[in-house]
Formats: sequence, structure tokens, C-alpha cells
Amino acid sequence: MYRSVMAISRGFVPRAAYSLCLGPLSPLILSSVSPVRRLTVSASLSAAQHDPSSATGHKSSTTSRWKPMCLYHTHGLCTMLDDPAHLEKFSHSCSDEFSDDISEFVNKKHQEFDYFLVLDLEGKVEILEFPVVLVDAKTTRVVDLFHRFVRPSKMSEQRINEYIEGKYGKLGVDRVWHDTAIPFEEVLQQFEVWLTQHRLWGKELGGHLNQSAFVTCGNWDVKTKIPQQCNVSKMKLPSYFMEWINLKDIYLNFYKRQATGMKTMMRQLQIPSLGSHHLGIDDAKNITRVLQRMLADGASVQITARRNSPENVEFLFENRIR
Ligand SMILES: [Zn+2]
Repeated sequence: MYRSVMAISRGFVPRAAYSLCLGPLSPLILSSVSPVRRLTVSASLSAAQHDPSSATGHKSSTTSRWKPMCLYHTHGLCTMLDDPAHLEKFSHSCSDEFSDDISEFVNKKHQEFDYFLVLDLEGKVEILEFPVVLVDAKTTRVVDLFHRFVRPSKMSEQRINEYIEGKYGKLGVDRVWHDTAIPFEEVLQQFEVWLTQHRLWGKELGGHLNQSAFVTCGNWDVKTKIPQQCNVSKMKLPSYFMEWINLKDIYLNFYKRQATGMKTMMRQLQIPSLGSHHLGIDDAKNITRVLQRMLADGASVQITARRNSPENVEFLFENRIR
């Protein structure tokens, strides 16, 4: 597989933006980035990502602008922000690829929440990727993005290498995974800092989210995988994972037709799928496109599942995907 590798050595913490749409954060946050290593920055993404039109067959104005994201940048670790060739090849903005044509949002309905946090985990044995897209419920615009690769805590180095080669090697992002992945507990610490910055979470709220809710495609992410990983990582389940919105249930109740997954929803709504399927950040962005359409169509996007303990989950919709 074709892979472009631009190698630069570095021995310092880059002054890269940590929060993609808000600019650099405080030194406090930068200092929490994983220990500085000398590493070779390889902008390694697959040929399919370099030429999305060949992968998706779409040529709309949105898709012709599409570029893969710089996954070092999403981690606050891109050192090539002054390299025009690099900027030409990789996106460094969380919102470029999303339509912001307000005129199409005529059916917008009042929403219970101010913000949605679109989450799509990757990793079957342990979580490998934790991407969250922050969407403004009123304007439907993408406000920011949080993205971390996650290093398993209970696996041998050899098993991790095989796992990552099998999962991300074919997408051409195994190198950036190895360069950036940090343990799950650190990911959640950084996520909480990011939430606090956006005033979406705080200890004064009892650890719950402020006027915002997770949106997932299915129940697996928050119902099953997060508690499992908290167990493996010996952490208490954070309070913000007590309720969530399964977009498939909202879809079923709003459009009165069933969709078994993200691809089906996108096909039925004729939304082009961009990027690499099963690269978490691209899947989260594609789910975001479905959410944006549903908000524009006037769907009321509300909580579909709630738990009162890690195991005990109550589903709030009678009609739901089982
Ligand atoms: Zn970059």
C-alpha cells in the first residue's frame, strides 16, 4: 500500500493547537500530554484517504474539498503546521468538511440539549480509539473535536503490535497510533479537561454533563464497552456515561424505518460516506453527518437509554432497534 512518509525528528513539545477549533490551551493541559519522546513524524494515511473521490465515487462540493485529518494534529502533536505540502495533503480543521449552509436547516426543532457529543469507539478487546465530535444543537455546526488513540493496559507489547497492525495497518495509520496512543485513564482525564473548557462538565454538576449528551450509533459504546474498559483499567465509571442517545432509535422513531447501522442510515438519507470505515474519527464524522441531517429534518434528539448502575440499563423508547 502506498504511504507517504515525511520524517522529521523532534525533541521538544510542539506548540500545536490542542483543541482543534479554539486554538492552543493552557500550559497545564499541554503538560499532561504523554512524555516527550524523539519520534519520527510520519504522515501516514492510506491512498484511499488521499483520494476520497476514488473511494466514494462522490464529487459534490463538500467531498471534492475533503482531505484526511492530520492525526498528529488531533492529538496536539503536529510539528508541520508551516509546511505547505503537508497542509495541502491533510486537514487541520475540525469543521472544514461539514456543510454550513444554514438555509437547508429550515425544519429545525427546539432541542432539549444545547450540544451533542458524537462518540464512536474502536477496539473489540480493549478500546483503541476515542473520538468525539462536538455539535451545536441549534446551528447543527461542528464546534470542536476530541480525538485520542488509546493504548491497551492489559496486553503484551507483542499482542498490541499485532492488534494495531491488523486494525490500523490497512488504513495506513498504525504509525501515528504508536506515536500518540496513551492509556484510557489519561484519555478520560484529558477529555474532562476538554469538556470543562467547553463548559460541558464540572465537579459542581455532580460529574454530569451540562446541557449536552452523547450520541452513538447503537448502544454498544456506552452500554457495554466503556464499563468493560473502566473495569480493565480499574476505574470507576464516570457519571457522564449514565445516559446516552442511540441515533438508530431516534432514526427509527422519526423516519419510521429501520436502519441497522451507520452505512444504512447514510444510504437511505443519500449522504456520502467520507474517509475510512472503522477509523473511529471518520466514523464519528459520518455519524455526525447523519445527526446534522436529522436535526435539519426536525427530529427531536433525546435520551434513549439511561443506567442507574454499570450493569442496569433502562431503554426509554418502546420502538427500538434490538
Ligand atoms: Zn499536521
